[in-house]
Amino acid sequence: MNYERQPYRRCGRSGLRLPAISLGLWHNFGADRPLDGQRAIVRKALDLGITHFDIADRYGPPFGAAESAFGAIHRQDLRGLRDEIVVTTKGRNPMWEGPYGEGNTRKHLLATLDRSLRRLGLDFVDIFYLHRDDEETSLEEQVGTLDHIVRSGRALYVGVSNYSPERTAEVSRMLRELGTPLLVHQPPYSLLNRGIEQSLLGVLEREGVGCVVYSPLAQGLLTDRYLDGIPADSRAAEGRFLTPDRVTPEVLSFVRALGVIAEARGQTVAQLALAWALRDERVTSVLVGASSPAQLEANVAAVDRLDFTGDELAAIDAAAKE
Ligand code: NDP
Repeated sequence: MNYERQPYRRCGRSGLRLPAISLGLWHNFGADRPLDGQRAIVRKALDLGITHFDIADRYGPPFGAAESAFGAIHRQDLRGLRDEIVVTTKGRNPMWEGPYGEGNTRKHLLATLDRSLRRLGLDFVDIFYLHRDDEETSLEEQVGTLDHIVRSGRALYVGVSNYSPERTAEVSRMLRELGTPLLVHQPPYSLLNRGIEQSLLGVLEREGVGCVVYSPLAQGLLTDRYLDGIPADSRAAEGRFLTPDRVTPEVLSFVRALGVIAEARGQTVAQLALAWALRDERVTSVLVGASSPAQLEANVAAVDRLDFTGDELAAIDAAAKE
């Protein structure tokens, strides 16, 4: 582990610090990819000071595969490092058939988390998230289950993902009353998706909740990956979650405009996009995905230049409006 490579930021008002750039295992950690390549990415992450690995029960394919892969890598390569890493998982989305196979009920969440722990080969995860809200389950049940998960030792902290600002404030208030504060929210955030600036960031600041953002590169759109077409080995070519129709002429011209600003800063477009998402200290960490160790290394170099001038920010805003 190399603790010199990155800054570590406090997650809200908690004492827990997370690296500015963290690794997500949504893609590239399925059973369809060789474990050796996945090991290489995780080992590179440790060299880059990445202590924080974001997973979910469904990440694969098939469901559960990313947790099994991380469990295998943990056994082989991370032996003795359990107290130096933060491992997260999530529950909520459909995992198996029947009325208990999904949702934020106590019944589903405890079962899916126990299955996650078995796949990971861990006694506890550091952070357990509700992957998204569930309007059919009362907030009392959702919040009571999170409190129980911490008290039963299955997780050290809890978070929510994709919750509205209003429901987040409510969850935070209810959890505080139970004595299990909400550690973190996990929303999407990038130069192509700035929704959290409207009110979620303000709510999180008031509540003292951290903000770990996902898809800061818009799944690869905010890089030079698609400037000359759609490469065969790219996420857009795979077409499962990023479809080729999202690679529009407007996105490409925005990326080219960002490229000019990035070059003047001595950065790539990807590095500029990550530094930009981290410019607000309320953002604790950005969760990146990587299909190779080289991508991860290039992305972490974003932390070498996190400051922006007012002119640079204005130029970025102007490019976004074109
Ligand atoms: P990113 O926006 O960082 O996209 C990652 C993808 O971009 C890579 O897989 C790669 O795609 C491409 N890429 C990365 N770096 C470079 C580079 N330097 N040059 C060119 N292309 C690059 O994040 P993700 O969308 O993967 O999300 C990150 C994490 O966030 C997930 O793993 C997950 O943990 C979390 N997440 C959470 C969600 C939630 O609901 N809570 C939803 C979505 C994500 P390619 O394969 O084409 O090489």
